[in-house]
Amino acid sequence: MSNIFEYAPAPESRAIVDIKPSYGLFIDGEFVDGTGKAFKTINPATEEVLAEVAEASDADVDAAVKAARRAYTRVWSRMSGAERAKYLYRIARIIQERGRELAVLESIDNGKPIKESRDVDIPVVAAHFFYYAGWADKLEHSGYGSTPLGVAGQIIPWNFPLLMLAWKIAPALACGNTVVLKPAETTPLTALLFAEICQQADLPPGVVNIVTGAGETGRAIVSHPDVDKVAFTGSTDVGKAIARAVAGTDKKVTLELGGKAANIVFDDAPLDQAIEGIVNGIFFNQGHVCCAGSRLLVQESVADEVMERLKRRMATLRVGDPLDKNTDVGAINSAEQLAKIRELSDIGEAEGAERWSAPCELPSNGYWFAPTVFTGVSQAHRIAREEIFGPVLSVLTFRTPSEAIEKANNTPFGLSAGVWTDKGSRILSMANRLRAGVVWANTFNKFDPTSPFGGYKESGYGREGGRHGLEGYLKGEDS
Ligand code: NAP
Ligand code: MG
Repeated sequence: MSNIFEYAPAPESRAIVDIKPSYGLFIDGEFVDGTGKAFKTINPATEEVLAEVAEASDADVDAAVKAARRAYTRVWSRMSGAERAKYLYRIARIIQERGRELAVLESIDNGKPIKESRDVDIPVVAAHFFYYAGWADKLEHSGYGSTPLGVAGQIIPWNFPLLMLAWKIAPALACGNTVVLKPAETTPLTALLFAEICQQADLPPGVVNIVTGAGETGRAIVSHPDVDKVAFTGSTDVGKAIARAVAGTDKKVTLELGGKAANIVFDDAPLDQAIEGIVNGIFFNQGHVCCAGSRLLVQESVADEVMERLKRRMATLRVGDPLDKNTDVGAINSAEQLAKIRELSDIGEAEGAERWSAPCELPSNGYWFAPTVFTGVSQAHRIAREEIFGPVLSVLTFRTPSEAIEKANNTPFGLSAGVWTDKGSRILSMANRLRAGVVWANTFNKFDPTSPFGGYKESGYGREGGRHGLEGYLKGEDS
C-alpha cells in the first residue's frame, strides 16, 4: 500500500532564468570579450555545465580600472550624494523586482537551497542597497568625512555570491567610489546578472565593472597601481597574501576572513530554541558560512540531552535538490570544497573524535555531504581549530562560564559567537568577554544592513555594514 505521506518534491521552476551559453566581462557599462581564456561554471547539484565565462587577463583588469578611474573623475565623484542615492535606490528596487530570477540563478550556480536564496540572500541584498542609498546624501554625519577614496578593487568568495557583492558595492558607491569587482570562479553568474541590472538602472558606464576570473585575476586587481582601495572577503591565507602585497603602498585595505565560532549553550537555555539555533548555526548554507557556529560548547549537565535532541533534529533535515522549496541543505559548492570537508572530517575521526552523520540519501550526481557532528572533540583537534567550511559540527563541553569563555576564545579567529541562556546578565557578561566581532544571544546567523560585521585576530580587519561600513570607503574627517 502506498504511503499517503510519501514525499512530494516542490521544485521552483528555472524557466525564469535565461542563462547564456557564454559571458564576457562587464567593463565601462558594456559586456566585452575578454582577451584571455574562458572557464566553465557548473551547477554543483548536478555537475551540469551552465556557461562559459571570460577569464579576465591583466590587460582586461587594466581596462576595467581605467574605466572606473574615468567614471570616478568625470562623473561619480562630482555627482551630489542625493543623485548617487537615486541610482542606488533604483538598483535596490530592480533587485526586488527581479528577486525570484536572482534567487533561482544563485541556487543553480552555488548549490544553496532556494528557500535560503529567496528568503535570506536576495532580501538582504536589496536591504543593503536601500540602507546605503540612505547614507549617500548624509555622509557629513558619518564621522568619517565625506571624501571618497577613488577606485575600489573588490574580491569576493562563493558562499554568498550576490550578498558579498552587495556588501562591497553598496557602501563603495554610496561614498562616491567606483569599483572593479571580481566574483569567485565557481559563482560568477549572479554578479553578471547584477551587471545587467546596472545597465537597466542607467548607472553611468564605468561606475561598476565586473571582471570574472580566478586567483590570478584577483591578484591583478590587488597589484594594479591605480587601485586606491582593496576590499577582500575570503580565506585567511589569501587575505594574508593580499596584506603583504599592499604593504608599503598607499592602498587602503579591508579584509573579511575566516572564522571558527563558538555557539555556547548553558543548561538554563530554552533547549528547543537552542537546537534550532545550533542547526541554523552550522547547517545554514551547507556550513559555507564564515561566521558558522562550527564549535558547539555545551554545558556538561545538559550535554547528553542536547546531543540526543540534536541528532533527532538532524535526522529530519532534507538534503538534496537546491531548487526544491523543501530542501534544508543543498549541494557543496565545488568538488574542491567537498574534498576539503572530507579530508578534515577523516582527520577528526583519526584524531579520536566520534563521528555521526544524519541518515539521509544523497543524490548520485553532484557534490554532497551529509550533516555531520563530532563528539568527544578536544581543543587540540584540528576539527576544533581549523575552519571546515561545511556541514560539520564539533562538540566540546564545559562546566563554568569561565571555562566556556576560555574555550571559546582559544582560537586564532574571532568573527562571531553565540550564547544561549535564560539570564540576561549572563548574556552581557559573556558578550563582553568573548573576543568576537559579532555575538548573537538566543539566536544565530542574523544579518542586518544596519549592523556592523567583521572580525578580530585572523578573522581580518575593518567592518562591513552599518555606519562603520562607510569608514573603509572614505578618507576620514581630517582630509
Ligand atoms: P579564497 O580562496 O580566499 O577566495 C576568495 C576570493 O579571492 C575568490 O574570488 C578567489 O578567486 C580570490 N583569490 C584567490 N587567490 C587570490 C589571490 N592570490 N589574490 C587575490 N584574489 C585571490 O576563499 P574561498 O575559498 O573562495 O572562500 C572561503 C573563505 O572565505 C572561508 O575561509 C571563509 O571563512 C571566508 N569568508 C569570510 C567572510 C567574512 O565576511 N569574514 C565571508 C565569506 C567567506 P577564485 O574563487 O576564483 O579562486
Ligand atoms: Mg557554479
